[in-house]
Amino acid sequence: MEDFDFENRIVSPTEIMGENDNDNPLRPKKLDDYIGQDKAKENLAVFIEAAKQRNETLDHVLLYGPPGLGKTTLSGIIANELGVNLRITSGPAIEKPGDLAALLTNLNEGDVLFIDEIHRISRAVEEILYPAMEDFAIDIITGKGQMAVSYHLPLPHFTLVGATTRAGQLTAPLRDRFGVSLRLELYTPEELAKIVKRSAAILGIPVDDEGALEIASRSRGTPRIANRMLKRVRDFAQVMSDGVITLKTAQIALERLEIDELGLDSNDRRMLNAIVKFYRGGPVGLETLAAAIGEEAVTIEDVIEPYLMQIGFLNRTPRGRCITRAGCLHIGLEMPDMQDPQIKFEDQG
Ligand code: ADP
Repeated sequence: MEDFDFENRIVSPTEIMGENDNDNPLRPKKLDDYIGQDKAKENLAVFIEAAKQRNETLDHVLLYGPPGLGKTTLSGIIANELGVNLRITSGPAIEKPGDLAALLTNLNEGDVLFIDEIHRISRAVEEILYPAMEDFAIDIITGKGQMAVSYHLPLPHFTLVGATTRAGQLTAPLRDRFGVSLRLELYTPEELAKIVKRSAAILGIPVDDEGALEIASRSRGTPRIANRMLKRVRDFAQVMSDGVITLKTAQIALERLEIDELGLDSNDRRMLNAIVKFYRGGPVGLETLAAAIGEEAVTIEDVIEPYLMQIGFLNRTPRGRCITRAGCLHIGLEMPDMQDPQIKFEDQG
């Protein structure tokens, strides 16, 4: 079976190589410019204000939810609103305890340290993080054997903002050390339309309301995808018409990019197809499905499934993934007869 290229497709919520999201003008800098996520935003506004009034550092914040929803953006906003510096790193980038110690000792009082993919830090690094988060101090051991000397090193007070796509994978002691835990949700098309219009204004791209909503509706609830689509659709609008993104140009462009009216691309449709054709609609185990379509299980879980579940095309059951009637209808297939799920599951091994 042909390999899928989920990572570099236009509807991928993760960064595409060369996108350089960290330094992009589309990132809102203030809480007021951050569109949607009202619940998280309102709570955060209170915590930030309270910390400022008391002249204390903000409690450590855990942000979780699928990629591309604005976790990095929010960490920048937190730092801005607090008037402090932001340091960005990620779980896999901190290889040794010493790497983390170097980062921590270089912080200024009150700074925000953002650790993306915090569920991927190693145990040894995590051990250092506990006292750093709790007591703002670390113990460093230098030398070996009898020559070993232990130093107790106080750290500046800082706010750790941890981001993860999977809160369930954090160890309990780490999770417990975050005073604030905020879940980011997929955005509604209306919220995404506002994001598209805001981005279009910044980039100087003319877009009307219907054109913005059309892009928004096909962006899988994800601002990163909406921004990326806006740029691609602009190219079509420029070449095909007067450069203005209208409903019609958006529709034609997205059709040419093979993104359907719900934001699914050919890879999504083929995954849904595989569930119907090879597994009679499911349940099919995640690993089995991943092998069948040549994709990693974590990509399916973090990147592809959240949206398909949100729009009611896919269910996660203890026995595996099942397509829904709506999902079948969308790809133009009949819902397979319901069989005993156990038989189906074992059939497909
Ligand atoms: P994550 O860290 O969750 O993967 P990012 O913070 O990198 O996501 O956001 C991806 C892009 O989406 C950013 O470049 C930013 O421009 C845009 N974005 C995210 N959330 C919002 C929002 N609430 N309002 C406006 N733009 C947003």
